[in-house]
Order: sequence, then C-alpha cells, then structure tokens
Amino acid sequence: MEKKWIYADNAATTKLSAEVLADMMPYLTEIYGNPSSLYEIGTYAQKAVETAREKIAECINAHPREIYFTSGGSESDNWAIKGMARALKKKGKNHIITTAFEHHAVLHTCQALKREGFEITLLDVHENGIVRADELEKAIKDTTALVSIMYANNEIGTVQPIEELGAVCKKHNVIFHTDAVQAVGHLPIDVQKQNIDMLSMTAHKLHGPKGCGALYIRKGIRPQIYIDGGSQERGMRAGTENVAGIVGLASALQRSLVDREERNSRMTVLRNRLIDELLTIEKSRLNGDRNHRLPNNINMCFEGIEGEALLLRLDLKGICASSGSACTSGSLDPSHVLLALGLPHEIAHGSLRLSLGEDITEEDVDYIAQSVKEVVQTLRQMSPVWEKIKNSEK
Ligand SMILES: *Cc1c(COP(=O)(O)O)cnc(C)c1O
Repeated sequence: MEKKWIYADNAATTKLSAEVLADMMPYLTEIYGNPSSLYEIGTYAQKAVETAREKIAECINAHPREIYFTSGGSESDNWAIKGMARALKKKGKNHIITTAFEHHAVLHTCQALKREGFEITLLDVHENGIVRADELEKAIKDTTALVSIMYANNEIGTVQPIEELGAVCKKHNVIFHTDAVQAVGHLPIDVQKQNIDMLSMTAHKLHGPKGCGALYIRKGIRPQIYIDGGSQERGMRAGTENVAGIVGLASALQRSLVDREERNSRMTVLRNRLIDELLTIEKSRLNGDRNHRLPNNINMCFEGIEGEALLLRLDLKGICASSGSACTSGSLDPSHVLLALGLPHEIAHGSLRLSLGEDITEEDVDYIAQSVKEVVQTLRQMSPVWEKIKNSEK
C-alpha cells in the first residue's frame, strides 16, 4: 500500500504557506536594513513593518498604534499579564481572574505572579469547557486588576462567549485580555465590538512563520514596558524588529480571512464526520462542547488507552496527531485541560487531539477514522484492564 502522510496537528503549529514565504523573502534577502536606520534599505524595512501593523490592525478592527510586535503567543501573554498586573499593583489592585484550562503561557505566568503576592482566581470551565459570564461577574472584586480568558482552547477547541465576557469586564472597569492564538484566522475578531482590551496572537498557528506574534493593547491602557532598550514598538518592547516575521504575520492573517466562512463550513462537515465515526468506538467520548468549538478540532478519549501508545501507532500509519498540548507531550501527566473539565485521571490519560488542516480531504478523514479504530482495538486486545473496563457500567 502506498504510504499516506496526514498532518493533523495544526493546533501545535501549521505549515508555512508558500505565498506567505514569498511575501517574506525580500526582507530575508535584499532588504536587510535596520528599520531604525535612515538610508534607503532601512526605510524600506521600516515601511514594511508599518504596513504590516496597519494590515493587522484592520483585520481586528484596531488602530495601528495599538499593535505591538512580539516573538509570539507566549511573549504576548507574558507581557499582557505581567505588564498589566505590575502596573496596576501600584494602584492597590492585586487580583487576577483566569481559568483553570488556559495555555501554560497564561497559567504559569499567573503562578509566577502569585509568588510575587498576587491573588489568582481560576474560573470553572464546567464539563463542556465554557466559562459563564455570571460566574465571572461574581468573581470580580474591587482589587481585580485583570481578567485573562482564552478565546479558543488549544486542546479541546471550545470557543468562549468573548463579547459577553468582555462586556462584564467593561461594566466593572476591569482590563480584559484574551489569548486568541487559536482563534485568529479561524474566528471573527473585532476588538471594539467584543470589548477586548488586550489580545495575543502568533503567526505560526495560521500558516505564518514561527517566532513572531503581536499584542493588541487598547489606547489608554498602559502595561509596564516589557523589554528595556531601544525605542522600538513605541519604547515598550525594545529590540531590532523581526521584519520578515512581521511581514509574514500580516500576510498570513490577511490571507486567512479570504474565504474564511467557506473554509470553516467545509472543515466543520469533515470534523463532524470524523467525530461521528470515532464515537462509534466503544467507550469513547468527545471532550469539549460539540458545537461551540473550532471547526478543525477533535478531542476524544478512549477508555483503557494510553495517549502515547495511540500516538506512536498512528505515527506508524503516517498520521501526525497529539495527545493534547504539544508542550506537555513527552510528560506522562494527564492534560490539565481535561482535568479542568472534571475528567478522572485514568481517562484524561487517553486523549487524542486531531486538528485538521485546510487541505484535508474526505478520504483523509476516513483513513484517520479507520486507523484510530484499528489501533484502539489492537491496544485494547493487549490491555490487561480492558475486559474489566468493558464490562463495567457507565
Ligand atoms: C501555541 C499557543 C501559545 C503559544 O504561542 P507561541 O507563539 O508558540 O509562543 C499560546 N496560547 C495558545 C492558546 C496557543 O495555542
């Protein structure tokens, strides 16, 4: 049989688009000047950075002066949360609200701030992985500096009611940050309409290059300076600009908006086809909300199956998948996201995340379904505990 190769780990990273690379190339080759320089090749680079800023602002309904370039999603999250928390501590605000299933770039940042004396509240995400606006409102106190809630979850793909959550923060005059790394390019973003004060994005999750992202900071909001040095990024984040990366981010974002609705509808059909097929496996479950989820995300548990064993065997069949977050694979800890949904440890171990790419076909989806079924069956036949699980109730 001809060996197939299917990349279904787009939530971990995506393939750099050939068109995006072509847009970046001049800035990796002949236009190498420093954007801060005064001669011609420097000014060309500077112009490219400012054009990219304008394009990105337009895509999220922001002003170009509200876009700051960073090294990616992790840095944007760190800056938004640490920068804002430390700035507001001087005004007596030392409380941060987030959720139990954020990306580690948010969770570990909040843990670091806890060691500095901040109080952290983790909102419940419930069994379906969705935060409730009324619970957020109840958690807000006079000392609340910041709320940080991700737009779409990277493991289970659930999408939060961002506009509603933002409205609660606005009503109580609390800064609202969202890690939108998984949403940008897939879901509509309008920082005005959705009441977003700060938003993190990264290029490599939307067919752009790795190592470049942006943080939107609403006008009038002043987090602490993130990197001291030169006057780049309006003196807030020093360092010679990653010009090619910045051009790549803008290009990838703009391109992701073309045909977005059409692409999403097509992906949703294929996603649902795969979910339905996988749910025919005995003792399987879909994690996260069935409808309020990214069009390309599937996250399933198969009782009695170790996630790692499943992934290795899928790899032999040419399928690239993940057991959840790329950052935790390699460790045997169950996913913090699945634990936050209330799943028991032994089930949270056996998760499979498939994040489809836009070039996926019906044939690919059927091949994935068939392969997962075969591997699950083989592993269960080898498992000493499967018979017991199979015969148990529930
Ligand atoms: C990938 C990811 C990040 C980290 O972005 P990097 O650019 O890799 O630093 C942060 N948050 C979420 C939700 C992600 O999926």
